[in-house]
Amino acid sequence: MAASLANKPLSSCREADMRPAPIVPVATPTSQPFWDALAERRVEIQRCDDCSSWVFYPRVRCAGCLSSALTWTEVSGEGTVYTFTVARQPTTLAFADVVIPIIAVVELDEGPRLTTSLESVDPADVRVGMRVQPVFVDAGDMTLLRHQPMSERRRLREVHAAVDMEMDSGDEACLIGVQEQ
Ligand SMILES: [Zn+2]
Repeated sequence: MAASLANKPLSSCREADMRPAPIVPVATPTSQPFWDALAERRVEIQRCDDCSSWVFYPRVRCAGCLSSALTWTEVSGEGTVYTFTVARQPTTLAFADVVIPIIAVVELDEGPRLTTSLESVDPADVRVGMRVQPVFVDAGDMTLLRHQPMSERRRLREVHAAVDMEMDSGDEACLIGVQEQ
């Protein structure tokens, strides 16, 4: 195999039939439930039954207390951009067709951080702290988890919920103040 490649002129390696297949993850027995959930358009991560820690990436033991009692638990997949970089040059031929991938670390609302890529956003508009929601992308037999900016409607719902919570706690403070007088 190596010998036959070595005998080919370099120019032929650029032909479409030499382009490697897309790179997709390989599920392991430990991570299989994560991929199965993605195929159903859901995000599941592990949670420790003993110390309640969220666990990501998929493991056989809790990173906090070493318990093996981990339960796959559905989460929204929503989170906040923790950091990101714009890969203007593909690092391998398999990514040659991907236009300016934005590689990001997203902190899920439950706490774990995961590496993902951002879609449906101009690289110049990405900000640390930006709210994002999951996108499910089929690639061969796998479904991949990516993220995109949270829809305006969803973001407004979050803002309203936060204001309602503030108002509720404000009412409590008023009541406490009245009782103390
Ligand atoms: Zn634990």
